Amino acid sequence: MWKCLECGRKYQSAKSAERAANYGCPRCGGVDIDVDVEIPATVFRPCSCGSGLASEEVLDARSIYICRVCDKCREDKLRGFRPEVLSDPNYECDEPIEEDQ
Ligand SMILES: [Zn+2]
Ligand SMILES: [Zn+2]
Repeated sequence: MWKCLECGRKYQSAKSAERAANYGCPRCGGVDIDVDVEIPATVFRPCSCGSGLASEEVLDARSIYICRVCDKCREDKLRGFRPEVLSDPNYECDEPIEEDQ
């Protein structure tokens, strides 16, 4: 996505952004069109549990992705994890990480 740096107007296509850069923004006449690097912060991702609520990523204490939860299923899904996995980066791992055969 592109946007006019002067008035904030957004452009969905490269073509319209290019036209605005060449001929001026339709709203303000500015030619400062740039790629809109802003990542939409609130992309709605419904939770897989079917609650219809927005989900969020859960990372463990080592910033390893665990799963997505919503307010409704958070407890259920995290029940299987030991509390230290979520709070202590030095938690002990049960499974050996690599094993020589
Ligand atoms: Zn503009
Ligand atoms: Zn859920």
